[in-house]
Amino acid sequence: MSSVTTSTPLANSATLNDAFQRPIRDLRISVIDRCNFRCRYCMPEEEKDHYKFIEKKDWLQFEEIFRLTGLFVQLGVTKVRLTGGEPLLREGLPHLIKKLTALPGIEDLALTTNGSLLAQKARELKESGLTRLTVSLDTLDAGLFRTMSGNRGSLDGVLRGIREAERAGFEGIKVNVVVQKGINDHTILDLVRHFRGTSHVLRFIEYMDVGNCNHWRSEFVVPSAEILKRIQEHFSLQPVKANYLGEVAERYQYLDGKGEIGFISSVTQPFCGTCTRARLSTDGKIYTCLFAGQGTDL
Ligand code: SAM
Ligand code: SF4
Repeated sequence: MSSVTTSTPLANSATLNDAFQRPIRDLRISVIDRCNFRCRYCMPEEEKDHYKFIEKKDWLQFEEIFRLTGLFVQLGVTKVRLTGGEPLLREGLPHLIKKLTALPGIEDLALTTNGSLLAQKARELKESGLTRLTVSLDTLDAGLFRTMSGNRGSLDGVLRGIREAERAGFEGIKVNVVVQKGINDHTILDLVRHFRGTSHVLRFIEYMDVGNCNHWRSEFVVPSAEILKRIQEHFSLQPVKANYLGEVAERYQYLDGKGEIGFISSVTQPFCGTCTRARLSTDGKIYTCLFAGQGTDL
């Protein structure tokens, strides 16, 4: 899968590179593969026979996650993101966060959540040292939100979660919106108006084929360029330079200073050439691509 070298154009020190010589800087750790939602673009309920959850006895223990992360950090990883499944379902997560924040070399420790348990956990997450939060929120239409979550989620609950996270001191929360044509694309502007003028950053994500029977069809993809055009009919935006090499979101800011939005265009503008991510699965396999079918068992 990978090698340790020092000589690639992207690398600047002893670096873990994948087979395409891309340095791994960004580690996504799936702390649990289960979820309390059944978003139709991710884990549709009717496909439950197609995905088998990893047995609890095979989950990496926190000690193991900590140890592996430490090794990755020694090899150049600086950013860590906890994800899932729904990461807030993993018991004792603040304990892991506390341990990870103490690792020298981690510059950024973030978590992506569906927000359903955030209201009750935000303060503890902040106190344990989590630096950044991403909340997934595809629409502000309560009925549609419920349908998109596979009849599991409540819009009010997620909005309450975001408010509690603000109270706990999280700023600049990223709000991920997966856009599907004919499903939620007509509600994009409501989200824009809701978050404009706050410190939070909407990120529109093109609907991807994540290879788990999510019935992906290209007709359901709304290209980022089209979303940008629709928003620009109402608000003036200008592009912002990437913060760092390998940043996947293309960023835009409102000309009147009311914040910024981003686009993740994995389908229409794949960013594989500069991708610096690896994913550690709940049972300890490392994947150098989200679309990879096979990982390496660590
Ligand atoms: N359960 C958490 C959540 O939903 O935020 C974390 C895990 S989820 C797999 C991570 C992100 O992937 C979410 O923002 C989700 O919207 C996005 N995602 C899931 N399936 C997707 C798909 N088919 N296309 C694009 N993004 C997707
Ligand atoms: Fe669960 Fe997140 Fe997948 Fe939705 S996108 S089913 S919340 S893991």
